[in-house]
Amino acid sequence: MAETSNLHIAVVGGGPGGYAAAFLAADLGMRVTLIDPELNPGGVCLYRGCIPSKALLHVAKLIDESRHASQWGVEFAAPKIDLARLRSFKDGVIKKLTGGLGQLSKQRKVEYIQARAAFEDSNTLRLSRAAGGEDSLRFDRIILATGSRPAAIPSLQLDSPRMMDSTSALDLSEVPGTLLVIGGGYIGLELGTVYAALGSKVSIVEMLPGLLPGADRDLVLPLHKRMEKIFDSILLNTTVAAVKAEANGIRVTFKPVEAQPAAPQTPTAVPQTERVFDKVLVSVGRKPNSDIPGLEKTQVKVGPRGFLEVNQQLQTDDPAIYAIGDVVGEPMLAHKASHQGRTAAEAIAGRKVAFEPNAIPAVVFTDPEIAWCGLTETQAQKENREIKVAKFPWAASGRALTLDRPEGMTKLLIDPASERVLGVGIVGVGAGDLISEGVLAIEMAATAKDVALTIHPHPTLSETIMESAEVFFGTATDIYRPKPR
Ligand SMILES: Cc1cc2nc3c(=O)[nH]c(=O)nc-3n(C[C@H](O)[C@H](O)[C@H](O)COP(=O)(O)OP(=O)(O)OC[C@H]3O[C@@H](n4cnc5c(N)ncnc54)[C@H](O)[C@@H]3O)c2cc1C
Repeated sequence: MAETSNLHIAVVGGGPGGYAAAFLAADLGMRVTLIDPELNPGGVCLYRGCIPSKALLHVAKLIDESRHASQWGVEFAAPKIDLARLRSFKDGVIKKLTGGLGQLSKQRKVEYIQARAAFEDSNTLRLSRAAGGEDSLRFDRIILATGSRPAAIPSLQLDSPRMMDSTSALDLSEVPGTLLVIGGGYIGLELGTVYAALGSKVSIVEMLPGLLPGADRDLVLPLHKRMEKIFDSILLNTTVAAVKAEANGIRVTFKPVEAQPAAPQTPTAVPQTERVFDKVLVSVGRKPNSDIPGLEKTQVKVGPRGFLEVNQQLQTDDPAIYAIGDVVGEPMLAHKASHQGRTAAEAIAGRKVAFEPNAIPAVVFTDPEIAWCGLTETQAQKENREIKVAKFPWAASGRALTLDRPEGMTKLLIDPASERVLGVGIVGVGAGDLISEGVLAIEMAATAKDVALTIHPHPTLSETIMESAEVFFGTATDIYRPKPR
């Protein structure tokens, strides 16, 4: 197919999917209009997701390390938290990044319109501008990148300033004395970590038998142990039956979940109890923004879970409309959204492309971090797939010991016949940065030998990936794990 660079494209939604699509479409010579209600591009990730949470987690880690430092012979006074300055640090990071994206739009001659879009037909959008006024614009192709919003549970909806979702939790209006986080997924754990470091007594309630249900249990275990120390309580196999606003807090009724097969580290559920919390953060997942006004006037199909249906070129059932990012499905992650955005732009330009990654990394930015990519052990067991797992405990890593963080672990999931690396899992400080090597190994079809023979710098945590591969051969230098002969 010939490249079609003279098209006029609209991108609806300025998150990491939308702006990546818009910028590449412009780089490929298309005329591009990017539409989002905010002053600048950025979407959930920059305004109320990845970036503000990581700015706060950085400060949480600093506080935690300053407390821990006495064990290394260095005493700091108890930290004094100036919430206004902390907020302004976080807001400053957001402003710098989103302002930068506004500049990049101008440099690429992407027309940025601050508005909400609705469909009039497959090629026409009605824009309600933030500054007031409406107009209709026609486009050759439209990319939907409308993202997602926090899911709400009707029985937990209370009109009270004490109830928070991730967006209001990131506003950091105050540090509550006690905080209940409903949901043991990554967003709840990350925000719980921030509030615990700032001084809240944090409790987590999760209906499943373990935290982070999508992750392998051996990766979650070291995090769970540490969270038991920093959180007031972790209630598993437990649901919230009711919430009620009272003068001095939110009264929460907990109910045990009926018998579930327990994970190894799982304590049994508590009997029905009630407790009052200063604040409650509901973090029970995210819902796709597929309820775009006028979508029914197009041929776009919405699947049973509310995601827009697309093919491997990210094209919907309507030939003029593409969709990317959170609104098309899991994993709802910024880097998946941007890669899909770039694929959609190339597909529209007529390039022969498909979104078919072998590995999409997932990172939980808690302390320790957890990261994985490719096949997981849980998935391999479900699919009855034969794999070999090679693990390297960080207690044998010089670098981990210099950081006083030996609880980590790196593992490779290896195909026994071809010896190809199929999956990588890491728990430990900096796991989120280390996982990229695993993604590269999987995408490049690396074998365990390739990884073992790649010289890694010493002393670094990255060596644990190389040494895991050595464990597979029974020849790891820093740990004695002979292969059965
Ligand atoms: C607290 C939190 C922490 C997170 N941390 C991470 C992380 O560390 N790493 C990671 O990869 N992901 C993280 N995520 C998830 C990440 O933010 C999303 O996966 C990512 O933002 C999805 O990008 P997107 O482009 O699909 O849409 P979004 O970023 O959701 O952007 C969609 C945009 O479209 C706009 N929009 C919606 N409807 C319309 C309309 N009709 N007209 C015009 N505009 C419209 C919205 O206002 C929004 O600005 C986090 C999310 C949260 C909430």
